[in-house]
Amino acid sequence: MHNITWHAILSCSLPSQVYFGMLDAPLATEELPEEYRNRYQDILYNDCDRKGTSRFHWLYHKCGFCGSYNTRLIKTKATNSSCS
Ligand SMILES: [Zn+2]
Repeated sequence: MHNITWHAILSCSLPSQVYFGMLDAPLATEELPEEYRNRYQDILYNDCDRKGTSRFHWLYHKCGFCGSYNTRLIKTKATNSSCS
C-alpha cells in the first residue's frame, strides 16, 4: 500500500506544483522492467479533465497538457501484441 494518497496531498497545504516538480527528476531517470516498457495506460487527468495515454508506471502518470500528476488510471494495455 502507498502511504501517500492523492486525497492527502490535495487536501494539505503543500502547493501541488511543488510536489509534482519533485517527481520529475527521479521519474525521468527511472528504468522500467522490460515487460513494462511497451505498455501504455489510459489515464484520466483530473486537473484539466482530459483523457490521454501515458507510458506505464505503477504510481505516477504525468499529464502532457498541464504537467500535473493528479491522474487516475483507467486501463492498462500492451502495445507489443503479437496477434495484431
Ligand atoms: Zn492536465
